[in-house]
Amino acid sequence: MNKQTNQPAEKKKNPLSAIIIVLVVLAVLGAAAMIGMRIPDTMELERKMDVAAASINADGVTALAAAIEQHPQAANLADARRLADEMIKVAIDEATAATDYRTLEAFTAALKENTAWKPYATEENQKKLADAWAETLRRMQKDQDQLNELKAVAARIVNAPALVPADIGAVADFRLPVGLAGSEETRIAAVYAAAIALKAQDLADSTLALAADKEKVRAGTEEPCEECGRQGTVPCQSCVRNPGKCPSCNGTGVMKATKLVGKKFESVDQPCTRCDGSGQCAACKGTGKRECFYCKGTTKRVNTQLAVRSMKENLKQLIADIDRQGAELERLKAAAAR
Ligand SMILES: [Zn+2]
Ligand SMILES: [Zn+2]
Ligand SMILES: [Zn+2]
Repeated sequence: MNKQTNQPAEKKKNPLSAIIIVLVVLAVLGAAAMIGMRIPDTMELERKMDVAAASINADGVTALAAAIEQHPQAANLADARRLADEMIKVAIDEATAATDYRTLEAFTAALKENTAWKPYATEENQKKLADAWAETLRRMQKDQDQLNELKAVAARIVNAPALVPADIGAVADFRLPVGLAGSEETRIAAVYAAAIALKAQDLADSTLALAADKEKVRAGTEEPCEECGRQGTVPCQSCVRNPGKCPSCNGTGVMKATKLVGKKFESVDQPCTRCDGSGQCAACKGTGKRECFYCKGTTKRVNTQLAVRSMKENLKQLIADIDRQGAELERLKAAAAR
């Protein structure tokens, strides 16, 4: 009986287990299909995360945001989102540290306008950006206050009837802030010209050492030397008639000397004492030329009046640059207030 009753029961079980097996197979196939779809997405997103992390800037965040959109199935989506948020934070920090308000401005625009970033422009990041603006503007304002002091000194020098060494010293000691670093050569040219006008050679030398284009800085204080006809050399005065030749022996190297021979005076040849028998003019070593006393062979002479003019022109340029920087600061303040 038992065997007989067991047989149909087993037969009944068989279709059920077949269904279970089919279901299990389907489930496994489905999971495999899902994993099969997810794995390439996950790997691709991982790769793009690595690339993005290597270039933490606005472009990097945009690329990563696009990658997140492209791989919605990826298992590491949350990691990618966290990385995007982290990258925005780091980029804001870097822009703040560098007083790089151009980057900050670009970042603000991107955060406001770039729809791809929208999910990552979290309140925390918005707050961080606002703080970064405040910090940058505060630092720029501090720089501008110092620049305005420099501007006052520069204006005083330009308008004063005579040079005041203390004022020149103040401009010489001033170091322009990062935002106005492009005007450093103008400041150097102004101080160098002032030092030349004041005949303060030490200050002129130490200032010129800072210049990137030394020739250009020097040129503002120099004019061609007319004493030597812009040649750097003048004819040797010792041998004008016979350039390069010893004037005593006319270049022969020998001199006639009168000697007492026996009871008679006789004329004999002996080496020229002035040129030691070389025949060359001893003063110019036979070149017929001597270095120009006025330009020391450089063909250029410093001119105090030119130096004063160059100093004033450079200081006016510096004042204009400081004003432009001030206007830029006001523009940024207005932009940050919006
Ligand atoms: Zn001679
Ligand atoms: Zn000579
Ligand atoms: Zn000369």
